[in-house]
Amino acid sequence: MDLRLSEYQPVSQLVTPVHEIHVPRFPVIDVHTHFGPMVLGPEYEKEYDTEQVLGNLARFGVEQVCNLELVWDGELERMNRKTAGQEGRLFTFPSVDVSRYEEPGFEDGVRRSMAAYARAGYRGVKLWKNITLYLKDSQGGHIRLDDPKLACVFDAAGENGLVVLIHIADPKAFFTPFDGRNEYYECLVESPEWDFSGPGHFSFREHMEMQEAVLSRHPGTVFVIAHCGSCSEDLGYVSGLLDRFPNLYVDIAARINGLGRQPYAARRFFLRYADRVLFGTDFIAGQDPAELYPYYYRFLETFDEYFDYAPPGSENSMGRWKIYGIGLPDDALRLVYRDNARRLLKLE
Ligand SMILES: [Zn+2]
Repeated sequence: MDLRLSEYQPVSQLVTPVHEIHVPRFPVIDVHTHFGPMVLGPEYEKEYDTEQVLGNLARFGVEQVCNLELVWDGELERMNRKTAGQEGRLFTFPSVDVSRYEEPGFEDGVRRSMAAYARAGYRGVKLWKNITLYLKDSQGGHIRLDDPKLACVFDAAGENGLVVLIHIADPKAFFTPFDGRNEYYECLVESPEWDFSGPGHFSFREHMEMQEAVLSRHPGTVFVIAHCGSCSEDLGYVSGLLDRFPNLYVDIAARINGLGRQPYAARRFFLRYADRVLFGTDFIAGQDPAELYPYYYRFLETFDEYFDYAPPGSENSMGRWKIYGIGLPDDALRLVYRDNARRLLKLE
């Protein structure tokens, strides 16, 4: 008997304790949110009211957020107008135009921008996966993250005390063939543009090599590598990075699916690196916080078993499995929820 994959939606008959948590045990700083054009598009101002969004987040225990956006110059001013008056609650991480990295004067411009960001009180800058996955150099190839011409970006950020929050690569399976053996098959059917397995792309391993090269060449720069150090699939690898590079922190945005399916390894990881892991979600302004935060809190705070990591059928539902809670103790929760971020954002 054959059934279409899309028609197979088994309902678990398991009976185990359920803890729904809308307010976390301790106040939260979400270091990975988007309030601008990156996710919401060029008309983002119309999509939400800043005060109202931050008020809704506060009801879910989120006191402060980092707004990660690829904006600079005029677009940054526009972003700041949209979030004006919320300076203590919302920290925008702007960026620099890396696509100009081969132009003369790029380095001077980057150095000027970073110095100006630091003077203006920004805490960090955002860099994205577009560098190695979408942008092309003048020869038509993708840009290496460890290209010496980009080194000034990381150096200047570090010299000015700005944290570099960077999203590198994507889940490992996006770099393996898009077929019946791919663990994100259904997700890739929805978003085929995330299939980076074809020729002309850097492999996942090459991405990790470039990531390591950048971490080792810029020891004076603090990096937050988003999405669990780009590799929630292999916490042994991420642990090795954290051991080797004291300048590295990771956020857990959009990765409780990957972490919660390996609860024993994840719990050991969070306990061992409790002072290096940051709470983040990839929240998008205007989105209902109820669709996101309770799932994170349940994963981090409880020992609940075999539950959904996102509302079924939602965009955040990315792999056909369920997760388990890791019941973190209070001291680890405090660090992950807020204290690590306070240190990096210089809020102490
Ligand atoms: Zn993001």
